[in-house]
Amino acid sequence: MKSILKLALCYIRQTSNGVECYFCKKNIQEIDFKDIKTISRFVSGLGKIRAKKRTGVCSKHQRKLAKAIKRARHLRLLP
Ligand SMILES: [Zn+2]
Repeated sequence: MKSILKLALCYIRQTSNGVECYFCKKNIQEIDFKDIKTISRFVSGLGKIRAKKRTGVCSKHQRKLAKAIKRARHLRLLP
């Protein structure tokens, strides 16, 4: 019984840990830096870019996201 629970927990953690990338799921190829609503989801409270390990964004989109965030910062859209 205990082992089943452990397995289930492990499964939940794995899926919630973001196997699927947010942008891949929505089929977004280019990330718009003017779309602050989306971008701010991947920025921490201190204005840092969240690690892809935590957000589940794939490395391809993480690079584009970083670019978009830097652009938005330059335009003072983000802290
Ligand atoms: Zn992706």
